[in-house]
Amino acid sequence: MKKNEIYEVEIIDISADGNGIGKVDGYTLFIKDGLIGDLVKVRVTKTKKNYGYARLEQILKPSPSRVEAKCPHARPCGGCQLQEMDYRSQLQFKQKKVMNNLVRLGGFEANLVAGLMEPITGMDNPFNYRYKAQVPFGTDKEGRQIAGFFAGRTHSIIACTDCALGVKENKEIIEIILEYMNTYGVAAYDESSGNGVIRHALLRKGYATGQLMVCLVVNIQCDGEQGTLPVSDLSDAYVELPHLDKLVGKLMAIEGMTSVSLSFNTRHDNVIMGEKILTIAGQDRIEDRLSNLTFAISPLSFYQVNPWMTERMYGKALEYAGLTGNEVVWDLYCGIGTISLFLAKAAGEVHGVEIVEPAIEDARENARRNNVENALFYVGAAEDVAPSLPRPDVIVVDPPRKGCDEKLLHTILSHEPERVVYVSCDSATLARDLKVLCAGGYKLEKVAAFDNFAQTVHVETVVLITRKEK
Ligand code: SAH
Repeated sequence: MKKNEIYEVEIIDISADGNGIGKVDGYTLFIKDGLIGDLVKVRVTKTKKNYGYARLEQILKPSPSRVEAKCPHARPCGGCQLQEMDYRSQLQFKQKKVMNNLVRLGGFEANLVAGLMEPITGMDNPFNYRYKAQVPFGTDKEGRQIAGFFAGRTHSIIACTDCALGVKENKEIIEIILEYMNTYGVAAYDESSGNGVIRHALLRKGYATGQLMVCLVVNIQCDGEQGTLPVSDLSDAYVELPHLDKLVGKLMAIEGMTSVSLSFNTRHDNVIMGEKILTIAGQDRIEDRLSNLTFAISPLSFYQVNPWMTERMYGKALEYAGLTGNEVVWDLYCGIGTISLFLAKAAGEVHGVEIVEPAIEDARENARRNNVENALFYVGAAEDVAPSLPRPDVIVVDPPRKGCDEKLLHTILSHEPERVVYVSCDSATLARDLKVLCAGGYKLEKVAAFDNFAQTVHVETVVLITRKEK
C-alpha cells in the first residue's frame, strides 16, 4: 500500500482515541471520523510496516450510528472526536474503552471486569456541559484577530466563538474581547514570533450560581504583585492594554459577571496560564455549589468542567468509600477540596493533598465556608506528603492523566488502607496503577464510568479496590 492510493473500506472497529479501523487485505488502516459500520472511500496518508493512516474522502454507506454533527467545525477541531456518533453509541464506546484498558493494560480477566462494571452514567443533554473554556487567540491568514479552538494535533486556530460544548455566555464574552482588540489595535499573541499580547481567555461559569469569570492571559511581564487592583486604579499601567477599562466595563455589564482578572504569561512553551493573577474587577473567585456544598474557585485552581456529571461521580466516590463516621481518609490530588468536603461529613477526618498552592488556599476557604472542621489540607506532591500523614482507613486518589507516581503507589500499599477509591480521567494509566495495587494485595471490587466529556473520546472512571484478607 502506498500514500495517496484510494480504497473502499468498511469500518469494523474504533480505536481508544476515536479513529475508525478498517482492513484492506489484512492491512490495518486508521481512519479519522470513520464510524463502525460505515463503508467509506479513503485516501492513504501514511504507511507503516503493520498499519497505516487514511483520510476519509467519501461516505459510501453510512453507519447506523452516524448522526449529523451539531457544530460545523466538528471534524477539523481538536476538541470533539465523536460528534458524528449517536450518543448511545458514544456511551457504549466509552464503557468498552474502560473495560478494554482494564483487561489489556491492567491484566484483569475480561469476565471479571464485565461482571463488576456498572452501566456507564451518561448525560440527558450531551451538549453545552462545559462550564470552563480556555480559548486561544490568534491571527488568521488575512490578518484578522480570531479566537476559537486548536485544530486537532496542531496549533492553528479554528475561528469559533460558540462551541457546542460550552455555555451560551462564552460567545458574547469572546466577541467583546475581539472587539476591544480591533478597536484599540491590541494584537493576539503569535507563538512563532513571541509578539502580540492576548494569548488565551479562561472562561468559567458557576453551574448552580451562574457566576461568571473571565481571566485574560496576556503576554506581559508583570513586575508588580499579584492580588487585586481595580482597573480604575490601574490608569493605563500596561501600555500594551490601552483603555482596558472599556473592555472591563463591557464584561462587567454581562449578567452574572463576578470576576475579571489578568494572568501574566511570557513563557514560550504551551503552558496556558501564567503564575501571577491580578483581579481588576469584581471578586478574585467565583462560587459554585454541588450537593449543598459551596465552593470558591480561583483562576488557577482545578475544578471539574462538567459539574452536573461531577455531582454524580463524587456521589459514587462517596458510596465506594463506605464511610461510617470514624475513618481517617486521605484525599490525594484534592484540588480545591471538592471530594474532601464530600467525604468529610461522613468521615472522622480527611487529609487533602494538592500541589497547586492557590487550590489549597481555596480548599481551606471552602472548608470554612461549609463549616467543615475535620478536613486538613497540605500543599505538596502527593507522593512526598502522603508518607507523613496519619494512617488511613480509606484513600481516595484523583490524579491528572499521567496517573499516580510509582512512589505513591508503594506508600499506599505500605499503609494498608481497607479501601482505595481511584477516580481517573485516563483509564489507561488507571489500569496500569491498579495492576500494581492489585499485585500488592488489593482486589478489584467495583468500576463505574461517567461521561463527563460527551462528544469527545475522554471518560472518567471511579474504581473501588479493597484489601484482601491476609
Ligand atoms: N480531586 C479534585 C482535583 C482533581 S484534578 C477535583 O475533583 O476537583 C488533579 C489535581 O491534581 C489537580 O488539581 C492538580 O493540580 C493536582 N496534582 C497534579 N500533580 C500532583 C501531585 N504530584 N501531587 C498532588 N497533586 C497533584
